[in-house]
Amino acid sequence: MAWISRRQFVSSAALFAKQRKLRVVVTGGHPGDPEYGCGGTVARYVDAGHEVVLLYLNRGEKGCPEQDAAKGSAVRVAEARRACELLKARAVFAGQCDGYAVVDRERYEEFRGLLAAEKPDVVLAHWPVDGHRDHRAISMLAYDAWLKLGKKFGFYYYEVSDGEDTLMFAPTDYVDISQTEARKKAACYAHASQAPDKFYALQSQVTRFRGVESGHAHAEAFVRHVQSPGNLLP
Ligand SMILES: [Zn+2]
Repeated sequence: MAWISRRQFVSSAALFAKQRKLRVVVTGGHPGDPEYGCGGTVARYVDAGHEVVLLYLNRGEKGCPEQDAAKGSAVRVAEARRACELLKARAVFAGQCDGYAVVDRERYEEFRGLLAAEKPDVVLAHWPVDGHRDHRAISMLAYDAWLKLGKKFGFYYYEVSDGEDTLMFAPTDYVDISQTEARKKAACYAHASQAPDKFYALQSQVTRFRGVESGHAHAEAFVRHVQSPGNLLP
């Protein structure tokens, strides 16, 4: 039997985590949130052979709840599908209304069922201190599902539109997205109706800053829940 050092053991464990095919779910309030917050990380997961779902709370519809939520905004849905196509991810819609997010007993159970059906190994969620109530709502729904499903999968928070949306975010983990930033940008620009020149410029400042912190050209940053399994980011 060959002896291996602790360092070698740790790196083989990390390698195992990277080689096992993971099912990743990135939850976001609106079409575009998962792409802006985690698009570079999504591309890295996909490059490593993992499966990624972008789970949107709503379809970016206007005028809900008067409008049929299932119908949603054709433009926003088409943009989300195009963004997912570019990132090689799958789009899932939770069917709530833009600006009218509901968090109650029924929605907790409904969302937990939706998430459980994806059998995730990792879930990425909005950081809850956020200026947008839809972001806060899905953050609560995702967190509750993680708790109720026994904290069995990885649970990390991400940041989006810092200053306007995410506030008070202190990362624990970083993903180098220098090689995938161009694909992230294309996926964000697929949301052409959502002023990508303005919002991508902001998000790009954030990934450059996270890159400065972590020693890369561009990085996306995460907060790992202290009780979450680790080593699940690419
Ligand atoms: Zn949003």
